[in-house]
Amino acid sequence: MFGPTQSAGSLLAVFALLLTACAAQPTHGTISSMSVAKNHDWKACEHGVPEEVCVRCHPERAASFKKKKDWCPEHEVPESQCLECHPDLDFSPPKQPPPSADIVQLVSDGSDLPALEPHLVANKVTVFDFHATWCPPCRKVDEHLYPILARRSDLAVRKIDIGSWDTPVAERWLQEVPELPYLVIFDKQGKRVAAIAGAKLDELDRVLAEASR
Ligand SMILES: [Zn+2]
Ligand SMILES: [Zn+2]
Repeated sequence: MFGPTQSAGSLLAVFALLLTACAAQPTHGTISSMSVAKNHDWKACEHGVPEEVCVRCHPERAASFKKKKDWCPEHEVPESQCLECHPDLDFSPPKQPPPSADIVQLVSDGSDLPALEPHLVANKVTVFDFHATWCPPCRKVDEHLYPILARRSDLAVRKIDIGSWDTPVAERWLQEVPELPYLVIFDKQGKRVAAIAGAKLDELDRVLAEASR
């Protein structure tokens, strides 16, 4: 006989089986460098992604995505461009920061930045944000930081747009970094306190609280 409890039990069993089946699927790459174009006036190509970063329009770009394990083996495009696996990918232009925010774009074209320390802001927590405008996790960090920046005058963000993984600034700072965004945080005394790869917002909050003491 199938009572309610037994049904729930068999449902659970089916669910467990499904989970096992899913785990056995080929693993996807990390979404490290997702395809929103560098320029805000990007045009979508016939593949529905910004033409500038499309690996089907520019097959020579595939290698740098693969190197960062941003690759969907099933559809042979970067995970970050795979609209089949990620129908929620958003390629629209990013939001603007609040006017009061202490936020400066140090590098906008991937050119080299030999040192961070000269750009520290006195008596403020300084966050160096290595990002790319084609990277949705970077936008998550922006969206998280903007309201904080609007109410906190003791926080400064210095942004470094890497352009791509092959630019001088990326070569210098991101050799060992698996994914964007990459945040390097200094406390008010100018001491480096943390580096966070990826949009780890809870960790960021914790580090910002610690660095503010
Ligand atoms: Zn294309
Ligand atoms: Zn895919």
